[in-house]
Amino acid sequence: MSKKDKALARAAAARQRGRLKKADFVKKHERAPSLVEKLYCRVCGDVVKELIMDENYIDTRTINGQVVKTVGLVLAESSEYAEIELTFDDGSTHVTYTCKKCAHTLTTDDLEDMYALDLELWNAEGAPEEFFAQYGSRKPLTSKVIRQDGGPV
Ligand SMILES: [Zn+2]
Repeated sequence: MSKKDKALARAAAARQRGRLKKADFVKKHERAPSLVEKLYCRVCGDVVKELIMDENYIDTRTINGQVVKTVGLVLAESSEYAEIELTFDDGSTHVTYTCKKCAHTLTTDDLEDMYALDLELWNAEGAPEEFFAQYGSRKPLTSKVIRQDGGPV
């Protein structure tokens, strides 16, 4: 079994355990699938980021006699967003996120399931085999909150 297959087996096991309320934590925009529309806390399922209209980027121009109005979009953090840093058994670290409530009550099992789903997502995004050789088998041991309420903790 390749390192990538082993990493994907960790994700499958995490899904099967069903401890996380939102294993599919990234919702893509229906009409623009390259855009993330909503990001959920994997542990409780609350929305922590959402695509909203950015009123600083509204543009109106005339194209072939038609007035075309465009608006910018921004993936904004909700007030519940918290960034956490995982520390692994090999001493390495990885920054990820949860909601503010869950950030302070994460168990080692939660961390394993969250990281396993990150590995699955990176695979879906095309991470190469070497990536999994380097990061696919490390185990998260602890987490600490590094940012919440829009700033450092
Ligand atoms: Zn949560």
